[in-house]
Amino acid sequence: MGYEVDLPNLETYAKTLLEAPREPSEETFGNAETIESDVSMQKQRKGRDKFIKDASKMANVIKEKLINSSGNPVFPYPFITLDAEKVAARKYDYIIVGGGTAGCPLAATLSQKHTVLVLERGGSPYGNSEIENGDNFGNPLNEPDKYSSIAQEVLTEDGLKLARARVLGGGTAINAGFYSRASLGFIQRMGWDEKLVNESFLWVEKVNAFKPDHLSRWSTALKDALLEVGVLPYNGYTMDHVEGTKISASTFDNHGKRHTAADLLKYANPHNIVVLLNATASRILFSSSSGA
Ligand SMILES: Cc1cc2nc3c(=O)[nH]c(=O)nc-3n(C[C@H](O)[C@H](O)[C@H](O)COP(=O)(O)OP(=O)(O)OC[C@H]3O[C@@H](n4cnc5c(N)ncnc54)[C@H](O)[C@@H]3O)c2cc1C
Repeated sequence: MGYEVDLPNLETYAKTLLEAPREPSEETFGNAETIESDVSMQKQRKGRDKFIKDASKMANVIKEKLINSSGNPVFPYPFITLDAEKVAARKYDYIIVGGGTAGCPLAATLSQKHTVLVLERGGSPYGNSEIENGDNFGNPLNEPDKYSSIAQEVLTEDGLKLARARVLGGGTAINAGFYSRASLGFIQRMGWDEKLVNESFLWVEKVNAFKPDHLSRWSTALKDALLEVGVLPYNGYTMDHVEGTKISASTFDNHGKRHTAADLLKYANPHNIVVLLNATASRILFSSSSGA
């Protein structure tokens, strides 16, 4: 099966970098005549920092877009494939339809003791800057189409326009990245094992949750607005589900890179799992015979 490497995107990225301000030379820093004021100096430093940050992002994008000699992308896990023939005529203990927010951790967990096939209708989030680059948050939501976009527009029964993901990692590849734990009350109501749930939170958070070292302007505005209208107390940073206003963890790291549920596949037993991309399940056949 073919795979289209997102070269146009890469080119736009490269162009942005070339147009970014260069690091000021030693001479510029040292020569008082060329520096009009502290403000212009700060601007140059900011430009340099942005340049370095963008260059490292660019390096990551290129690394992740490396293709092998057969023209296929190099996925971070060997068990992700676009080749349907690899999974055909094989039996699995479990077939999971949808490699999304729930599907990926479920598959990783089941694969510890069972054979698992994940069918994901979308492609890979890896190397896709529309997903991974936090600056592009929202773009996929503005470009939904019926058949191939990362986000698919859906209309709820009560007429609300929403989006659903169509990519490995599911909703975590398009959402706002707000990460919070469930409340104790909810866990108890569901009848879940509290100890196991807490262990599971840690399992996920090691890979997917980051404590922000600063708040974006959007988050700052939201926090201030909540406090202004009296959503109290102010709890500062916590991942716990608490009353009032808080700063929580994010699935975007402090370099602005998004981490999706697909990253949880790193916990999978690679010998027991296959993740097939571009694979839409259209029917499930149930059988009552014991051989099913
Ligand atoms: C814009 C937006 C912002 C959000 N922000 C946040 C937030 O900040 N914090 C938060 O906690 N939640 C947020 N959410 C909600 C959260 O992302 C979802 O509730 C969650 O991702 C749903 O997980 P899921 O496993 O049920 O489904 P999904 O993660 O959507 O997984 C379903 C998967 O199944 C695949 N699939 C569907 N049909 C088929 C088929 N027939 N064959 C094969 N594969 C199929 C899809 O491609 C997808 O990968 C947001 C949601 C949206 C849309």
